[in-house]
Amino acid sequence: MKYSELFAKTSKQIPKDEVSVNANLLIRGGFVDKLMAGSYSLLPLGFRVVTKIEQIIREEMNATGAQEILMPLLHPKSIWNETGRWDSAREVMYQFKKGDKEYALSFTHEEILLDLVRKHIQTHRDFPIKLYHFSTKFRNELRAKSGVLRGREFLMKDLYSVHGTQKDLDKYYFEVAASYMKVFERVGLKAIQVEAAGGVFTEENTHEFQVLCDSGEDEVIYCPGGDYAQNVEIAEAKEGQQCVLGHGPLLKAKAIEVGNIFRFGTVYSEKMGVSFTDTGGKKQYVYLGSYGIGITRLMGTVVEVSNDDAGIIWPDQVAPFKVHLITIDNKQLTIDAKEIYQKLIKAGIEVLWDDRMDVSAGVKFADCDLIGIPTRLVVSKKVGEGKVEVKARNSDETGIISLDAFIKKQDY
Ligand code: ATP
Ligand code: MG
Repeated sequence: MKYSELFAKTSKQIPKDEVSVNANLLIRGGFVDKLMAGSYSLLPLGFRVVTKIEQIIREEMNATGAQEILMPLLHPKSIWNETGRWDSAREVMYQFKKGDKEYALSFTHEEILLDLVRKHIQTHRDFPIKLYHFSTKFRNELRAKSGVLRGREFLMKDLYSVHGTQKDLDKYYFEVAASYMKVFERVGLKAIQVEAAGGVFTEENTHEFQVLCDSGEDEVIYCPGGDYAQNVEIAEAKEGQQCVLGHGPLLKAKAIEVGNIFRFGTVYSEKMGVSFTDTGGKKQYVYLGSYGIGITRLMGTVVEVSNDDAGIIWPDQVAPFKVHLITIDNKQLTIDAKEIYQKLIKAGIEVLWDDRMDVSAGVKFADCDLIGIPTRLVVSKKVGEGKVEVKARNSDETGIISLDAFIKKQDY
């Protein structure tokens, strides 16, 4: 992609009410645009990051045997009345009337999923069912102050599993937990699995996936050895207490919740009458599990934990491009630079080429650091014919190598 043709360049204009690091860098870098509090457009750069995050999640969800679908966002009141959530979740749900009918915008999909399941199951042979989708969620968030970490409209991956027995649900639940850890690792984040209370969703304990970060809204108490972690909201242990396994004192830290998994059991299926005939010929309610990852929140979390004074530092796996090619002294170099650009593309390397003619080298370098692509390549008269200057975004060292050698070194 030529930077001159990219929609939405870097900008110095930040909305006055944006206080978070993620919104500041994502808006200045040209990744997102703010429509109103808690509502952002994904611009081409941001959309590329989100697409990469989604692909990682898709691969890991498929690896658990789950299948991808897409459910509607506009829901009739009647379905929410079946579980009583039209009233109990009224504060968070966007509800409205059109003509003589009432509707809600999706804030989650348990009811819709169970409605789907009850129309398509008959016997115990139909289980387990594992379905997920990527879609928008709408939530009337009162504290929409954390940029894309807390949108009133945001992207989520939600997976639902339906089982004939609690045992089968438990087994899959922990499979998903393990798969979530792989997702966060691949995205470039260090997440910890934390016990938490179910909030508006369930009375039971659930598990959250938290990334330690000072700007997080959550607080966790955890063992540095990894065998204990609870959200302070429910924590039984205290900071400083010794870990039973001898890893030292428990620590307390702020954290961002990037994922959450729940075992609802038969709570909703009883209310909605979702049942099947078990092996003994008896009617049995289905067991439901629900598993969410905040996609746009993940993008914001990466920015919160991976940046410096100059801008974002994207991990390789989710960077919008792999290489940021900068050409200096364009007048003399256009032909050469174009060749380099095309060679990189041909080698399968995703490259953003700052081909602008009317912009100084200083501005190009500053924009490059702000955007945060992992590898910077500079082509200039000084560097010389057929050669490129290479610098990683997360290092100060530069080196000069031939373009062919650079391409060979890449491991794609
Ligand atoms: P929180 O505790 O942060 O309000 P939640 O527990 O209500 O979130 P879930 O309903 O479990 O969230 O949603 C699954 C995931 O979706 C969360 O773990 C989080 O990553 C993401 N998420 C939830 N609310 C938002 C939001 N307002 N904006 C962006 N992402 C969100
Ligand atoms: Mg939560």
